[in-house]
Amino acid sequence: MKFSQLADYFEKLEATAKRNEMVALLAELFKSLSPEEINKVSYLCQERLVPNYEKIEFGMSEKLIARSLSKALGKDENEIWSLYKEMGDLGLLAQEYIKTKGDVLEILEVYNRLLDIATTAGKGSVEKKTDELAKLFSLASGKEAKYISRIVLGRLRLGIGDPTVLDAFSYAYCGDKSLRPVIERAYNLCSDLGLVGYTLFSKGLDAIKDFKVQVGKPIRMALAERLPTAEDIIAKIGRCSVEPKFDGFRCQIHKDGKDIKIFSRNLEDNTEMFPDLVDGARKQINSEKAIIEGEALAFNEEAQEFYPFQVTVQRKRKYQIETMMIDLPLKLFAFDLLYLDGEDYTSRPYIERKEKLGKLILPGNVIMVADYIITDDPKELDAFFENAIGSGLEGIVAKRLDAPYQAGARNFNWIKLKRSYKGELTDTVDLVILGYYVGRGARAKFGIGSLLAGVYDSETDTFKTIAKIGSGLTEDEWVKMKNILDEIKVDKKPSRVISVLEPDVWVEPRYVVEVRADEITRSPVHTAGKDEGELGYALRFPRVERFIRVDRVPEDATTVKEIQEMYDMQKKVEVKE
Ligand code: AMP
Repeated sequence: MKFSQLADYFEKLEATAKRNEMVALLAELFKSLSPEEINKVSYLCQERLVPNYEKIEFGMSEKLIARSLSKALGKDENEIWSLYKEMGDLGLLAQEYIKTKGDVLEILEVYNRLLDIATTAGKGSVEKKTDELAKLFSLASGKEAKYISRIVLGRLRLGIGDPTVLDAFSYAYCGDKSLRPVIERAYNLCSDLGLVGYTLFSKGLDAIKDFKVQVGKPIRMALAERLPTAEDIIAKIGRCSVEPKFDGFRCQIHKDGKDIKIFSRNLEDNTEMFPDLVDGARKQINSEKAIIEGEALAFNEEAQEFYPFQVTVQRKRKYQIETMMIDLPLKLFAFDLLYLDGEDYTSRPYIERKEKLGKLILPGNVIMVADYIITDDPKELDAFFENAIGSGLEGIVAKRLDAPYQAGARNFNWIKLKRSYKGELTDTVDLVILGYYVGRGARAKFGIGSLLAGVYDSETDTFKTIAKIGSGLTEDEWVKMKNILDEIKVDKKPSRVISVLEPDVWVEPRYVVEVRADEITRSPVHTAGKDEGELGYALRFPRVERFIRVDRVPEDATTVKEIQEMYDMQKKVEVKE
């Protein structure tokens, strides 16, 4: 297909905020593409060139794009720059000034050229990138150039989330969304929308049904539900395994011979950050190929104890890795096995995976297998819990013995139990920042007074508001927060945000903060859980407990469904107390 036709679709997608229409448009588009094109368009429509977990960035600022435009137009760079300053949007500028008819570029050609630009590195690369982009602009029409520049800038902003693409695959393949669960399963096993689309449309549905995990492609992580007491847990899943809940960061380790990859909870490739874990994995995973999961914690050699999360998290950085490794060596508590030498273990029962994991890990000083007890006695579970709390851990995770590893799902196969603080929600929630208010009184001088925050509605792939948060941050943090948010501010409410409130500044839903509150109440002001004629949910006395969480993408935020469950749980605890 010609890129100009794709640009027409982008234009139509941009013009609608209705999810059904987006799905229908995308499905129509996919139907007219080859599998190879489907593969690339799945990335392009989310302003990417590769799956989410691979980091290829264009590394081109507005300035460089303006330079490319000036080269393509044969105009002075300063003139283009001042026009840009007036219009505030390079895409629109390109559209207005490029008069070429275009219509010569194929999607695959644009894709390949963009990939070349993005992967150009080293000496003289800035010049090469701008030249290549200028060449691309000179072959494009105004409309094509508008979308090319937005892709390079990462500002396509069509509001297409992964669930929307998955639904569109289903519609394109069979005319309705009945295939979404099978398609989603495959996606959860590889986190690669392009690969899933390509497999479905080149090899057919059976290949999707038979989809297996692959070493090197991150598996979307299974998540835990919550229950308030040991009795509730046993009543829900019966005889189960109970493991300590470690408060560090989750790692999914892929071993392929000497080649090790470590993915974070939000599926970023963090391998470079953790040479000590890489080394441990090479030495202690006793197989050629494997995928294991665990929680990494920094260890205090002097005191022979683990550091709290606030210290552990300092290892999540890209510089001074060697020094950090010496000061804060990591240990990994392995708790699951997902793949071993050609076998996909995700569909096997927990207990089989866990026993195999115990045999797979060789003794050593980096990786340990998380210990566990098996019980159907709430008292025994409670004792294990108290013991865990006593040793400075967060609580426990109870696991259903016969459950498969359900990639990407949060369900009662795993149940977490944390210390309950009387009068407070037992657990914090992860909220997406949707906008901010400029602030009055003392905070007016910072230009930011509170945040509008929301939860994720996984059913509709939208973000709904639940709180206005004005506390929990230090003055420095407010300033930092404003700077970070100003980078992603948008001039109108993003299409995936559902809100009655209007903050002073809207931002792209991108950053997640951890928030503590006293309780969940019902409120007409917020849209989370607000169905026809019903009240929404709101947080009482919300405060930020952890600054922007680098390990969460917006879709990882607490969901409306979880809030409903926490609300019900809270009512139950109130009755008990
Ligand atoms: P939460 O982030 O509070 O939803 O709790 C789930 C997280 O607990 C997981 O994503 C893991 O990072 C972490 N965790 C710690 N210990 C365990 C364990 N034994 N089993 C599973 N997850 C664990």
